[in-house]
Amino acid sequence: MDNFFSSFTGIAERFMRYVRMDTQSDPASSTIPSTEKQLDLSRLLLQELLEAGIHDAELDAFGYVYATLPSNVTLALPSICLCAHVDTAPDCSGSGVKPLLHRNYQMQPISLPDDPSIVIGPDEFPDLLTKRGEDIITASGTTLLGADDKAGIAAIMEAVLFLMSHPEIPHGNVRVLFTPDEEIGRGVDHVDIKKLAADFGYTLDGGPLGSLSDETFSADAVQITIEGVSAHPGYALGRMEHAAKMASEIVASLPQEHLIPEKTTGRQGFVHPTKMSSTLEKASIDFIIRDFETAALQRHEEYLNKLVSRIVAKYPNSRSTFHVSEQYRNMREILDAHPLAVQLAERAITEAGLTLQKDPIRGGTDGSRLSFMGLPCPNLFAGEYGIHSKKEWVSVQDMQRAAEVIVRICELNTHHG
Ligand SMILES: [Zn+2]
Repeated sequence: MDNFFSSFTGIAERFMRYVRMDTQSDPASSTIPSTEKQLDLSRLLLQELLEAGIHDAELDAFGYVYATLPSNVTLALPSICLCAHVDTAPDCSGSGVKPLLHRNYQMQPISLPDDPSIVIGPDEFPDLLTKRGEDIITASGTTLLGADDKAGIAAIMEAVLFLMSHPEIPHGNVRVLFTPDEEIGRGVDHVDIKKLAADFGYTLDGGPLGSLSDETFSADAVQITIEGVSAHPGYALGRMEHAAKMASEIVASLPQEHLIPEKTTGRQGFVHPTKMSSTLEKASIDFIIRDFETAALQRHEEYLNKLVSRIVAKYPNSRSTFHVSEQYRNMREILDAHPLAVQLAERAITEAGLTLQKDPIRGGTDGSRLSFMGLPCPNLFAGEYGIHSKKEWVSVQDMQRAAEVIVRICELNTHHG
């Protein structure tokens, strides 16, 4: 199977077809999926899968696409799920995306025609220096591109259709799953794990060529409420206890040089206020707490709890509450117990001639939640860069290689029956 990635010649057209569709999700919506327009792409994917001969492809009532590429061997093999999300981020417009194909890239800065002040260049994206001669796709300057995660969808579609037309390549059951609303944190809310019936899976939703992520943050949310004492400001002496001032003091007392997102990188965790609302009498602060070690989350929470108590204790008639809720956990806790998913991906990436990059994700993925729902699910590269912004770009050859890695994983899986 040497260098067969170049057989995925249709991937650029396929990707551009998908990104032209506006599939932005909406955190303020309570419908499922959050926006009707996501279904435009889900329906197109359904149709393309059916036309390719994948007869069980279905779009369910929640907007999820399920499909099976049936095993072509008699051996009982683990079933592999390939997962990507159809929606794009609410942070940046996804309406009227005009994908531009820059062929034979020569490492020059790319100025986008609809807003020439937006320039995509190697200064900001050093990985562009590794793309000489490749074909780069960008948006036109007024929208995001949507490589996150349509690059992942395109790679999965190409890989599955390639396997359909190459029955000589052995593989077990391959389950395709396209989800809505990943960008607003609801991507796996309605996944039917039983129906999916896969042993492990991969999200195709990553950046640099050859990267594989088997670690995410562990994440908690903390909600703090403060109840002060209100009084007429003209007669407040010895009575008023100002909740807004207590809340401000808490936020101002956070470390300045460590344990905050602005000053942490790599494997360092943080404590981060995301929202504060206050009046004289009442205040609340929402925090997110992140670390790769779940035990460290508890240490960060104890630190924050003590800080709150120390400040509120200065006001004898005020009270505070401190509420912790779990958000998600580092998927490594699950993947360590089910090593095959990571092993196959590492081997496939290496055998494709790529340099394996294992970077922990400073965030969560649908894969972290799927892993804890019973589907061990690391994240594979799809070539996404500059995501959630007008500077988003992708290399066609990176997407081809992502498709190749998927095919190799499916083939390597047959050695593990
Ligand atoms: Zn994504």
